[in-house]
Amino acid sequence: MSSHAPRIAIVGAAGRMGRTLVNAVTREPQATLAAGVVAADSSLVGADLGELAGLGKLGVAAGASLAAIADEFDVLIDFTNPATTLANLAFCAEHGKAIVIGTTGLADDELAELDGYRERVPMVFAPNMSVGVNLTLNLLRTAATALGDEGYDIEVIEAHHRHKVDAPSGTALKMGEVVAESLGRTLKEHGVFAREGQCGPRSGEEIGFATVRAGDIVGEHTVMFATEGERIEITHKASSRMTFARGAVRAARWVAGREAGRYDMQDVLGLT
Ligand code: NAD
Repeated sequence: MSSHAPRIAIVGAAGRMGRTLVNAVTREPQATLAAGVVAADSSLVGADLGELAGLGKLGVAAGASLAAIADEFDVLIDFTNPATTLANLAFCAEHGKAIVIGTTGLADDELAELDGYRERVPMVFAPNMSVGVNLTLNLLRTAATALGDEGYDIEVIEAHHRHKVDAPSGTALKMGEVVAESLGRTLKEHGVFAREGQCGPRSGEEIGFATVRAGDIVGEHTVMFATEGERIEITHKASSRMTFARGAVRAARWVAGREAGRYDMQDVLGLT
């Protein structure tokens, strides 16, 4: 189903994830780094992608727009921001490209717009591309099903670096959703995203979120199930962005040549 060695383009190639993705694609023998795009007003337009990623010259220059490289790639990997990602999806629909989307922080209307492309674009969209986090989602399903309605309070705690712009993290929300779904609850009704002042005791059904932003933390998530006498904590800690980048490259290889559809990392990893 997936093509042998898809030609990959990276949008946002000068970003934290973009540079790591360049590195990850060059390490993958079953994929080719075909092109990269940086913001049109960036001083890095024309820079060598390898040099941006600290790898030395690769002979692939950073472009200023997807239109200029439309014939050069099969799959786009996009870790940018919601507005850019939606514009890139429209491009992929028009030009018959597949896309791997790691961007987080999409609002409800942006998610609906993204979903509108599911019949026109083969896309993998996941707030966290690491294999470990996706396995953790399955562990959470098991834990929530066994414990959730037995008087265990559920809290999701996450920590990220000081530059992160959205909160709680897309991964924390995904973890909360998985737990909520397993218990027939919804985050809209049961999610509690802030506590301050005289907010009263917690209810049994709420799913609480707490966010830490500090230093260079790559990404840490804990889901706590706590009751009188014991507490279970399921934790994932990412120590390098390479875990997300390798997952994204795996997703790109998987989605290349596939039917249009909205897939996630559970599909890519065969965990569904
Ligand atoms: P970053 O700010 O370092 O990088 C984003 C890059 O996109 C910047 O270099 C910016 O110049 C570029 N960009 C913006 N608009 C553009 C455009 N129109 N064309 C080309 N480039 C453009 O941010 P980051 O830490 O790399 O994170 C990016 C996104 O990825 C965030 O939403 C973050 O939450 C998400 N993320 C997801 C995962 C995952 O596994 N899914 C992991 C880490 C980060």
